[in-house]
Amino acid sequence: MSGATAPAQSPAGPSSRQSGHDCPECGAGFPLAHPRQIFCSDAHQKAWKARTRRRGYQLYPFAIVARATREGTRGDRSTGSRASKDADQLRERWKDEDATKKRMTPAAYLALRYRLGFDRP
Ligand SMILES: [Zn+2]
Repeated sequence: MSGATAPAQSPAGPSSRQSGHDCPECGAGFPLAHPRQIFCSDAHQKAWKARTRRRGYQLYPFAIVARATREGTRGDRSTGSRASKDADQLRERWKDEDATKKRMTPAAYLALRYRLGFDRP
């Protein structure tokens, strides 16, 4: 994704845009009500945050064990290796799910937040 330029495509058309980003949840362009607005609606912000919270809860034990065992190369290698594979599997599933639903990638979402002056999600 490009950083400084606005995406050319927008389902709502260029006249509805004040500046350059689409809603992370639905991918649609929208008029900004304020300069640091990220989502097109409260419903989409809530949906994004609820899914992120749920995914974090699911991923946490696998990611921590995978990291602690350096992906199964230190300590309890069999558990670490399995945790690493499970974490990868979750990430791949979510990546596919997000692509199908036309959601913003996690990297693009974080870049947008940083650009708008937010420190942490
Ligand atoms: Zn939206």
